Amino acid sequence: MTYLSADKVENHFHDVVIIGSGGAGMRCALQLADAGHRVAIVTKVLPTRSHTVAAQGGINASLGNVDSDHWHWHMYDTVKGSDYLGDQDAIEYLCRAAPRIVRELEHQGVPFSRLDNGTIYQRAFGGQSREFGEGGQALRTCAAADRTGHAILHTLYQQNLRAGTHFYQEFFALDLITDDDGCHGVMAWDIAKGAYHLFQAKAVILATGGAGRVFKVTTNAHICTGDGGALALAAGLPMEDMEFFQFHPTGIADVGPLISEGVRGEGGYLINGEGERFMESYAPTAKDLASRDVVSRAIALELRAGRGCGPKKDHVLLKLDHLGEALILDRLPNIHELALRFAGVDCTKEPIPVQPTMHYTMGGIPTNRHTEVVYTDGDNTEAVFPGLYAIGEAACVSVHGANRLGGNSLLEIVVFGDACGEQVNEHLKKQHYHTPLDLDCWKQAVARVERWFESTSNNDGPRIADVRARMQTIMQEHFSVYRTEDVMREGVEAIEALAAELVSARMDDGCRVFNTELIEAMELENLMALARVTAAGALARTESRGAHARDDYPERDDEQWMKHTLATIGDSGVELDYKAVRTQPLTVESFPPKKRVY
Ligand SMILES: Cc1cc2nc3c(=O)[nH]c(=O)nc-3n(C[C@H](O)[C@H](O)[C@H](O)COP(=O)(O)OP(=O)(O)OC[C@H]3O[C@@H](n4cnc5c(N)ncnc54)[C@H](O)[C@@H]3O)c2cc1C
Repeated sequence: MTYLSADKVENHFHDVVIIGSGGAGMRCALQLADAGHRVAIVTKVLPTRSHTVAAQGGINASLGNVDSDHWHWHMYDTVKGSDYLGDQDAIEYLCRAAPRIVRELEHQGVPFSRLDNGTIYQRAFGGQSREFGEGGQALRTCAAADRTGHAILHTLYQQNLRAGTHFYQEFFALDLITDDDGCHGVMAWDIAKGAYHLFQAKAVILATGGAGRVFKVTTNAHICTGDGGALALAAGLPMEDMEFFQFHPTGIADVGPLISEGVRGEGGYLINGEGERFMESYAPTAKDLASRDVVSRAIALELRAGRGCGPKKDHVLLKLDHLGEALILDRLPNIHELALRFAGVDCTKEPIPVQPTMHYTMGGIPTNRHTEVVYTDGDNTEAVFPGLYAIGEAACVSVHGANRLGGNSLLEIVVFGDACGEQVNEHLKKQHYHTPLDLDCWKQAVARVERWFESTSNNDGPRIADVRARMQTIMQEHFSVYRTEDVMREGVEAIEALAAELVSARMDDGCRVFNTELIEAMELENLMALARVTAAGALARTESRGAHARDDYPERDDEQWMKHTLATIGDSGVELDYKAVRTQPLTVESFPPKKRVY
């Protein structure tokens, strides 16, 4: 290594290093900092710019503030919503913890909207029912107007400042420091100064969020590039269920920004080019509030049948003007602004043009219910990778299975942020010292960055922005709402060829200080790794389940496919393995698979 010597790498010692300052990372940090540990958050943006800030509609908890509700009904809805791929021990834990954790958020200072009697406002969301599907729509989603994520993230940030969490902001995580004994730290790049930092820790937590930017049209922020998953893959660990990306039914047509499910929860509905409320024929009971996979598929079928709107008949309309200006401006002010800004539509008067848009990464880094990262060892049994944890959208615990219910992700990040804090607290009682590191442990990360600086002299290589645009187009065209063997096979070949091209891609900007092209280059490497495992996993799964809908295999196949995909990247490419769904809940009886109707 000629680039630099070890004394140019700044060393930091913390009990715990958390990568990511979204709701998951911040909730976990708060728990650990309050317990007296020395906690660092490493984050590539300013903490409150994490994607959690964009969450609109709300967070689920069976508080029963409006009508009777029960965590067991919430559990039933989540298992059903997951198309029976969710792990029922984790789902039971999620739904039981929800009321406690949401009340805790309230006490920490989240400014929830209120009912007249002063309790937290709760609205209807998709796929939610009472009495195990027999009691009609539940009102379970707790909301702070349509800025719930903003309210939660800012509150957690303030609480972390109080608790003394150390923030390393605009630091980009490059490489996990691992050996046969587990994970002992992380190498990072200080974006502003262009310098290397080695963080040594007794526990490392990946809370890096989703990977929506694998696709071209998405509701996800530019920073949602699946970096944590790529770090895990690079460390030889698997990714779970990456073929399941959720398409949200109502992204603003052509551009992607999200129009929350809360709009339909408040009484908005979809109409096609013939002015019909088409959801009535796809989901006679839940109609527009069926789960997201069902509504997205219905829109895709309407468009395919030529019943779209606009000159290209490529979108449908979301009508909400009948709700009245007062309600819209009180409960959905952000939606009003987004529609004006991105669609040029005043939604108090006209409907909003919408289409299914990539929204959420159901797959992620596999963990057990205690948030410990797991893999399959040589004896074919599940083993814990010591010292490494994953939470939030980056993880696959798996509470969402093949399809996530709206409002369950904000819940997941705080419930498992809390659970991870508890688990790491126990780990730290036994792990008193930092593990001595290999003297060369920093070199791989440095090579990763310096390769890009060297590429500036290679005038023949493809440009980073071009490779990224091609990757996103391939994923959008070959792995969209409906999938088939031929189209996906072409997609796998195209992605593999593009991944090979990326190795010789070039960066134009050779500056070391605040080089955003360098960050984009490394984010592209991360996205490409995730695109490869997504494509391979999707092609292999010969059934339709949740967000993975195939024209050539239209039915769910529980006999063969009620299992999780595990994908690793080895020398010979993507390798697939599988593991059983954890169908046994903690204390109640299992919900056996049955046909999903809404
Ligand atoms: C527009 C939109 C609306 C949504 N609305 C809702 C809703 O109403 N209800 C609901 O339940 N869910 C909603 N979701 C989903 C939910 O908001 C997310 O799943 C959740 O907030 C993810 O939180 P997180 O903490 O896991 O990650 P994020 O909030 O995405 O944070 C990821 C963090 O990781 C850091 N990071 C990533 N890579 C690196 C790296 N290489 N180095 C250093 N740091 C890194 C980032 O800086 C960031 O701080 C919505 C999502 C979107 C996109």
